[in-house]
Amino acid sequence: TFRILHGSREMALSLVDMAQQFGFIEDTLHVIAQPQTVRDAPQAQPLRAGEGRVEFRDVHFSYGDAREAVDGLTLSIPAGQKLGIVGPSGAGKSTLIHLLQRLYDVQQGEILIDGQAIRAVTQDSLRAALAVVPQEILLFHRSVRDNIRFARPDASEAELRAAAQAACCDGFIRHLPQGYDTLVGERGAKLSGGQRQRIGLARAFLKQAPIIILDEATSALDTESEIEVQRALVRMGRARTVISVAHRLSTLSSFDRVIVIQGGRIVEDGAPVLLRAQGGLFQRMWRLQAEGLSLEEVDCLSIIP
Ligand code: ADP
Ligand code: MG
Repeated sequence: TFRILHGSREMALSLVDMAQQFGFIEDTLHVIAQPQTVRDAPQAQPLRAGEGRVEFRDVHFSYGDAREAVDGLTLSIPAGQKLGIVGPSGAGKSTLIHLLQRLYDVQQGEILIDGQAIRAVTQDSLRAALAVVPQEILLFHRSVRDNIRFARPDASEAELRAAAQAACCDGFIRHLPQGYDTLVGERGAKLSGGQRQRIGLARAFLKQAPIIILDEATSALDTESEIEVQRALVRMGRARTVISVAHRLSTLSSFDRVIVIQGGRIVEDGAPVLLRAQGGLFQRMWRLQAEGLSLEEVDCLSIIP
């Protein structure tokens, strides 16, 4: 492709532009899959992203039916906090994540990043501030290196390796036939689900966004890898705010804080070790998972009062 384009400055520039936007493509496809109701406000300003402080103020949202998917939720996430979100399926966890990306506008209340209402900023600047790791990672039929680098085409090789290491994928990549130069196959067909997810994580690590969002992004990993990834997120330190909807509760042990969502509201909020002792939903879910039940099975038991 590069050789064909050689000589055409215009096309080369558009390729650079495209590459720069590739970091957003994943998020964008996410957006495309949703009804496109959200537009930039007429006076929209770019978000001046700072340290990554997030606030939900009395947020209400429904998908158009009578039930509120998010029902008057207030949540303040200090910059650099590592926040886990758990709760039964259908509780509103993904909706919360979607609202923060402004895939939908809230019907009441407000969401702010570093003190600026996301409704008032340009969507491009909002996407630049968020590194989202979706459940299904989109890969292009290019090398592993290119696939990670899409997140930030100007990243150095060392930065790329560091991101891959943090996402626990440097090891398996180096064992691929051509290492980082291995082609991933159409849609990443040559890789397992867990490997694709790790590459998605490496992208998020490489994109220097102040806020990293994961929605059950590590569910295809085994527990050990999932714990390793969550630890890597914690190691990013205060420079990154992390919001992670977690599949397995045990992987959140090193997080600063966990909120339990149920019926679109926060029903528990605190350090994981405190919630485990509190005798609430988190403790019940924790015990069942400790006995070896999956989150799906815990859901089926309808332990929710
Ligand atoms: P969770 O991620 O905690 O499993 P969700 O945020 O996906 O929960 O869903 C919260 C509620 O909103 C559920 O009742 C779900 O059925 C509903 N819901 C989710 N997405 C949509 C949608 N696109 N259209 C209509 N209802 C939806
Ligand atoms: Mg969900």
